[in-house]
Amino acid sequence: MVYFTPGPAQLYPTVKNYLQEAIENDVLSLSHRSDKFISFYQGIDQKLRTLFKLPNDYHIFFTASATEAMERLIENCVEKTSTHLVSGVFSSRFYEIACQLKRQSVVQSVEPGQAYDFLKIAKDTEAICLTHNETSSGMQFPLEDVYRLRDMYPEALLFMDIVSSAPCFEIDFTKVDAAFFSVQKGFGLPAGLCVLMVNERVLKKTEQLNQKGANIGSYHNFLNLSQMAQKWFTLETPNVLNIYLLNRVLDDFVKRGIPEVSKISGAKADLFYDLIDQISALIPLHQNPRFRSENTVVAKVDTPQKLIDYLATKGFAIGTGYGDLKTVAIRIANYPPTTLAQAEELVGYISAYFN
Ligand SMILES: *Cc1c(COP(=O)(O)O)cnc(C)c1O
Repeated sequence: MVYFTPGPAQLYPTVKNYLQEAIENDVLSLSHRSDKFISFYQGIDQKLRTLFKLPNDYHIFFTASATEAMERLIENCVEKTSTHLVSGVFSSRFYEIACQLKRQSVVQSVEPGQAYDFLKIAKDTEAICLTHNETSSGMQFPLEDVYRLRDMYPEALLFMDIVSSAPCFEIDFTKVDAAFFSVQKGFGLPAGLCVLMVNERVLKKTEQLNQKGANIGSYHNFLNLSQMAQKWFTLETPNVLNIYLLNRVLDDFVKRGIPEVSKISGAKADLFYDLIDQISALIPLHQNPRFRSENTVVAKVDTPQKLIDYLATKGFAIGTGYGDLKTVAIRIANYPPTTLAQAEELVGYISAYFN
């Protein structure tokens, strides 16, 4: 089966070999205080800096999930209020977490086809939280808009969920303060690990809150994480296997580089959107191409399950719509582990189904 599902998704083609390699090298019994573990953490740090062209003041931490990264960012950087730009389930979860942590956070929600009104954001908001690719609704947040937000609200910290868009875009990380991705989507690894990248402004804010006596959480507060990271350690026993696999798969991504990954990702997205334009039974959820996600293609269709079952007989898995859209839409994930040839084959089967 080839998985064009939004998550968990297709494994990156080299990962099965790396898993074998991990077993042969006893990675599953390796101490997280060993020199080998240190070399994995250092490898990831160095390769992510190269891949993403991270500014020097960035720190790289591990959390268990992207959901955890959202909670840590609020706990460590928001004393009173954050602003959340919401277009679906994952951006909404970020907001709900802030509310559960008793912050007086503010939400601005849009439906497909609508744009955010950046002028409505409060000048004194401590953080602006946005989702680069909203995997549930297939709405993309254009990078020009991210940078415009930074220019409009230079005092606010800017947090970006890049879970399902990384590593397909060249992001200017000097205009963002924190970004995070879990590894089971674009990087094509098993679930259960997230990378959180934060700059010095973020750590300064955490120190300020800590000095004021605010509750910044416990073992994964940013002061602990950065102290441990200086020794290339994690406080808890982490997901060593996935850390090993991430270090290995990053060799492949660094070799390819984001421009090449991005080119293929764009070509695959064009195939899917061209198909949707040609087939009248498929209606794109986002009519405005500016907000149409490259990484999660969502189209409305009658009885999506019939199409999904047909594609399964051809060896392809695609997703249903999310939440309310489950019985009226399909979602096709376009992540780097699937190839252009596989996307062409899938498009061929979808065309055949409708013709
Ligand atoms: C999948 C996803 C998440 C949640 O990731 P977890 O690792 O399950 O916490 C968050 N944001 C986006 C955009 C996602 O696609």
